Amino acid sequence: MKDFSLSASAFPTADCSTCQRVVLVHVTLDDHDRECRRCVHCDTEIEAPLSWMKAGELEREGYYFGPPPAKDAKRSTGGGGCGSGCGTCATRSH
Ligand SMILES: [Zn+2]
Repeated sequence: MKDFSLSASAFPTADCSTCQRVVLVHVTLDDHDRECRRCVHCDTEIEAPLSWMKAGELEREGYYFGPPPAKDAKRSTGGGGCGSGCGTCATRSH
């Protein structure tokens, strides 16, 4: 499993005041060539102290490692009728 290399890595995270959750942080330079940390989602500058998370901890925060789940490609809606339990399709008692 490639989990081994992931579990040996840590990723910088912090609370983002805009996203209101723990986010991954990236470091960039501002106009004065000063390092600043920004949220990877909304680019808000992060003032909160960083905490370094392992991959497993990040997954608990909603991040996902590996190839993204194929939402559209894999889900075939053909056949089987209505799978949503709407009641209309399933009420035939015989
Ligand atoms: Zn954010």
